[in-house]
Amino acid sequence: MKILVPVKRVVDANVSVRVKADESGVELGNVKMAMNPFCEIAVEEAIRLREKGLADEVVLVSAGSTKSEETLRTGLAMGADRGILIEAEGPLEPLAVARLLEAVVGNESPELVVMGKQAVDDDNNQTGQMLAGLLDWPIATFISSIEINGDEVVAACEVDNGIETLKLKLPSLVTADLRLNEPRYASLPNIMKAKKKPVDKTTPAELGVDVTPHLEVIKVAQPPSRKAGVLVTSAEELIEKLRNEAQVI
Ligand code: AMP
Repeated sequence: MKILVPVKRVVDANVSVRVKADESGVELGNVKMAMNPFCEIAVEEAIRLREKGLADEVVLVSAGSTKSEETLRTGLAMGADRGILIEAEGPLEPLAVARLLEAVVGNESPELVVMGKQAVDDDNNQTGQMLAGLLDWPIATFISSIEINGDEVVAACEVDNGIETLKLKLPSLVTADLRLNEPRYASLPNIMKAKKKPVDKTTPAELGVDVTPHLEVIKVAQPPSRKAGVLVTSAEELIEKLRNEAQVI
């Protein structure tokens, strides 16, 4: 079984993002970038499935600037087998990414696609759902565990009031939530090995996908800064403040 894992390059989750002075977007120059944390979890799970003998190959795919190759190399250093880079400058909306991934699924014929539940830059949480719709495949979102028995996937999904267990027939798509696993760190020898793993390059035009945006970003603004906190000296004072000053959000 082949597993396809789409991975996105985003601003490192430990960096505090700054809005550009002209409010046209977020400052990306000289900012540390990294693999989207939920994509890392997806890569880890795909590698674990291969290590359990349930998959033969883990293929990564990333759409974005040429620098997304670094993101693919990160996943290859974790243990994925090969990568596909879809070189596209400019913003890519979830529907455009889903169409690109649909084309890659057409070329690669994976039986399972494991994705992040959302990318932490735009917080869209749309691409997996759209891809499953385009492919007409069953999908389990926000999964915290996965088992594969023959041609069936059993996934536990985190829903508002508990855990929902779903059974899906392969081929299918799952999106990873935080509790699915803790991704491994790549060892130095594996980082070196990853430099030699194959990364095929393609473009939206070669895949026959028009990625022209449908949305216009009018402005991106910094959230209002938080007021300074106060130190209370007693439980009574805390209760008094909670009663009289706390705001219901
Ligand atoms: P989103 O819908 O943008 O929140 O992203 C959800 C998931 O879709 C991510 O965790 C990735 O698995 C995948 N994805 C989104 N954008 C890209 C991209 N440019 N390249 C590859 N995968 C992507």
